[in-house]
Amino acid sequence: MKIIKEMKERGHESIIFCQDRESGLKAIIAVHNTVLGPALGGTRMWNYENETLALEDVLRLSKGMTYKSAAAGIGLGGGKAVIIGDPHKAKSESLFRVFGKFINMLNGKYITAEDVGTSVADMLNIRKETKFVAGLPESCGSSGDPSPFTAYGVYCGIKAGAKEVYGKDSLKGKTVAIQGLGNVGYSLAKHLHAEGAKLIVYDIRKDRLKKAGKEFKAKIIREENEIFNAECDIFSPCALGGILNDKTIPGLKCRLIAGAANNQLLFEERHGEMLDKKKIIYITDFVINAGGIINIFAEIEGKYNARKAKADVSKIYQNVERMLALAKKKNITTYSSAVLMAEERLNRRKKS
Ligand code: NAD
Repeated sequence: MKIIKEMKERGHESIIFCQDRESGLKAIIAVHNTVLGPALGGTRMWNYENETLALEDVLRLSKGMTYKSAAAGIGLGGGKAVIIGDPHKAKSESLFRVFGKFINMLNGKYITAEDVGTSVADMLNIRKETKFVAGLPESCGSSGDPSPFTAYGVYCGIKAGAKEVYGKDSLKGKTVAIQGLGNVGYSLAKHLHAEGAKLIVYDIRKDRLKKAGKEFKAKIIREENEIFNAECDIFSPCALGGILNDKTIPGLKCRLIAGAANNQLLFEERHGEMLDKKKIIYITDFVINAGGIINIFAEIEGKYNARKAKADVSKIYQNVERMLALAKKKNITTYSSAVLMAEERLNRRKKS
C-alpha cells in the first residue's frame, strides 16, 4: 500500500506505527481529522491476518469516527487504533501500558476508549500511562459504559423516523423487529417496550431471547435469517455490519430501518439506493448510533453530568430530522445526506 498517497486520498492527518519487542506490542493509531476537536475512537484488538488488513481497518474506522462526530454536532474529530494480536492470548498489563505511552506522546490529539477486543481492565492499564482515555467506569470519575446512551439515542432516532414514515412519533402499537439483544439491543428493547411497542427479536444467544420473551412478551424468531422477513413496521439492526445487502433487502417487510449496528449497508451507495426503490426509509447508522460518543464528549468537556449527557443524546431526534429533510431536498439517499451533513459541518469549521 502506498501509505501517504492513501492517506491523502482519504484525508488522514497522521498515522503512528507502534512496536515494542518486550511486551510484543504491534499497533497502529490513525488520526483522521482534528478540525472539530481531538480525534476520538476506540482501540480495537484483533488477530489480523496481516498488517495491510490492520491498516485498512484503522484507516476506514478512523474516517468513520470523523463523520459520526461531525454529524452529531460535537467537538470531536475522528481517530481509531488497532492492536494486532489475539485478544484472548496476547494481552498483558505491560502491553497496554506501553501502548498508553504511545498515546500520551500525541498529547491529546488522539483519545482512546474501549472497542471490540478490549475491555475496561485494558483501558485502566492504559490510564496508568496517559489521561487520554475515556469511557472508564463511573468510579474513576468517567462516564461509564456508553451502551445505554447509544440505546437511548437509537430510541430517539427511531421516533424521529417513525414521525416521517407514519406521521407521528409515538411507537405505541408499532411492531419493531430487533436483531441482536446485546448491550445496546436489550437496552433499546426496554425503551420500546415501555412505550408500548410490540417486539420481535432474534439473537444467536438463546439466554437473551428467553429473557426478552419473558420481560417484554417479545415474539422470538428461531432461525437467523427469518428476522429479515419479519412482518414489522420497523427493523432495528443491533448486531452486525453489512446486513443490508442483495440477499436481505428483497425480503424486508418494514417501512423504516433504524438501529445501532455500525456499517449496516454492505455497499453504501448500491444498497442505500435499493432501499430507496423499495420505499424503505433508512436512518443512517452513524447518525442514529452516536449516543455513546455524545456521552463521551460530555465527559471530555469536563464535569460530567449524566442527566445533561442524556439531554444531549436526545438531540439525535433533530439530527435525524435534518438528515431526512436534506435527503428530500437534494433528492439523494439518506446515507448520502448524512455524509453531506457531516462534510458541510467540517467545511464550515475549516473556513472559519
Ligand atoms: P454486543 O456485543 O453487546 O451485542 C451484540 C449482540 O448481537 C450479542 O448479543 C450477540 O449475541 C448478537 N449477535 C451476534 N451475531 C448475531 C446474529 N447473526 N444475529 C443476531 N444476533 C447476533 O454489542 P453492542 O455493544 O450491543 O453493539 C451492538 C452493535 O451496535 C454493534 O454493531 C456495535 O458496533 C454497534 N454500536 C455499539 C455502540 C455501543 O455504545 N455499544 C455504539 C455505536 C455502535
